[in-house]
Amino acid sequence: MISKLMFKRRASIAWLALVAISLMPFTALAQTQIKYHSNKYSVQDDVKLGRQAAQEAESQFPMLRDETVRSYVESVGRRLVAAIPSEFQHPEFQYYFKVVNASDINAFALPGGPMYVNRGMIEAAKTEGEMAGVMAHELSHVALRHGTAQATKGQKYGVLAGIAGVAGTIFGGPGVGQLAQAPFAVYVLKFSREYETEADVLGAQIMARAGYDPRDLANMFRTIEQTGGGGGGFLSDHPSPSDRYARINREAEMLRVNGSERGDSREFARIQERLRGYQRAPTMAEIQRGGQRYPVGENTGNYPNNPPSGRVDYPSSRYSSYTIFNGGVQVSVPSNWRQFNENNTVWFVPEGAYGQYNGQAVYTHGASFGVAQTNSRNLQSATQELINNLAQGNNNLRTSGGYQRATMSGRTALFTTLSNTNEATGRPETVQVITTQLRNGQLFYMIAVAPQNERNFNNAFQQILNSIRIND
Ligand SMILES: [Zn+2]
Repeated sequence: MISKLMFKRRASIAWLALVAISLMPFTALAQTQIKYHSNKYSVQDDVKLGRQAAQEAESQFPMLRDETVRSYVESVGRRLVAAIPSEFQHPEFQYYFKVVNASDINAFALPGGPMYVNRGMIEAAKTEGEMAGVMAHELSHVALRHGTAQATKGQKYGVLAGIAGVAGTIFGGPGVGQLAQAPFAVYVLKFSREYETEADVLGAQIMARAGYDPRDLANMFRTIEQTGGGGGGFLSDHPSPSDRYARINREAEMLRVNGSERGDSREFARIQERLRGYQRAPTMAEIQRGGQRYPVGENTGNYPNNPPSGRVDYPSSRYSSYTIFNGGVQVSVPSNWRQFNENNTVWFVPEGAYGQYNGQAVYTHGASFGVAQTNSRNLQSATQELINNLAQGNNNLRTSGGYQRATMSGRTALFTTLSNTNEATGRPETVQVITTQLRNGQLFYMIAVAPQNERNFNNAFQQILNSIRIND
């Protein structure tokens, strides 16, 4: 009986879809026609450019390590991609979707398909439709090949300008640092007013074709304003939010929503609930300031899915020498530790000491190195800024004792010890922070972590510290 009813229901949906399809030509007449801009680049150039930019982006932005959330966003993205009008589809493009663990309400897509949706955007959206609206807008920039079209006009293209443009070099000399080159540029694609309007209009059309109410894209502007602005790149785009709101709603009147309407879903509510269970996401500004306690991105090699066992071998008495920050720093670490790079930070950790917990990468033993941009040029207050930043993502972090003078690479350094409870293992741990200043005023730091009762790691940390050579 039930199956029969289901069959009937399915059949009537199919019939409705048929009716909708046959009505499409009439509605298509009314909607705004959009055309490509002249573009001297090939479609393959878009793919190549986007791939490079994606690599940069993923080395700088912390990805949320939650497969449930990622695959949900991906499923919404797939539905939208399938709804891109055929004249704007490119078989060469490879659309994929990742979630950035940042609280700013933003999303961006790169030429050829990679899209990054901030966790803050998913949390702020009132409905799945609002989230889909932002994604449809970003997808439209990609489908219309706005990046390379803008480059064709000789304007600086946002992605590259954004990533490589803020090229404050930390370390001088030959082989000037790639890592250092890209402290979190403002990753905002600056498109012209005309392009933004096109992405809004095509975005609304894609929404309708995908079964979403296109007005949800407009509603997202209101939602962003209600949450106190902070729309980052998405809202600061000209034209003004109220003009965009009106324009999208005008377009929506000409559109027919395809099939049974999606807009809100229980799944969306579950995903938001899941995100609320996580520690607060850092803002892009905080990420930029540095002091990341953990490697958080996905390009950290074969980072295991399970939490760290916390059972690790003693540090080897043999040391391997590494050159990090593109020649800026030399350091020797026990040969049984391995290296991860991310967010302008380099980690050295033993096997068994790293893994994932609660959507984040964590480690129990090891040393990390980084460069932080601080407001203060005074070593002690700069160090305090770094520690405050560390503490923001770590509720259990406590200072225990003041600063001690130390030496790092022959220069004045400060040493301080913090106590923490490891999120993954629940064990008390000691966090030692050693800082010194680079010639350009930035703060170079080493953070050494081990469980409180495993003092045998202190020898290794001391040796590592002694081996550091800074060439700035
Ligand atoms: Zn845009």
